[in-house]
Amino acid sequence: MGFLSKLFSNLGSRSKGEPGYATPDGPHGLRIYVQCDKCGEKVPVRLRTSSEVQKREGPDADQGSGQYFVQKTIVGSKCYQRIEATVEFDARYNVVESTVKGGKLITLKEFNKEDEL
Ligand SMILES: [Zn+2]
Repeated sequence: MGFLSKLFSNLGSRSKGEPGYATPDGPHGLRIYVQCDKCGEKVPVRLRTSSEVQKREGPDADQGSGQYFVQKTIVGSKCYQRIEATVEFDARYNVVESTVKGGKLITLKEFNKEDEL
């Protein structure tokens, strides 16, 4: 009970995750999608929840808004732009917040959408 009430109070004070930005990819994987600022390439990024995605606990607990977070540098195939993504997830791996240098986080829907040019 103590644990649950703590968890719920944490969730209450934190913003709720947005579905659509992260999709499951196998039992220990997660996929997010970024778009390069420079060339517009859409890049799928596979994250291993077992190693790359870290739980916010201990000294990290108050450093971000999520229950889990990942920091990753992504380089697409069309240019050499380095996309530095820091993504915060809630307990169900929905994206709560993201900071992406050199690009932006997009949803699976946006990833699959044909460019309207
Ligand atoms: Zn690019």
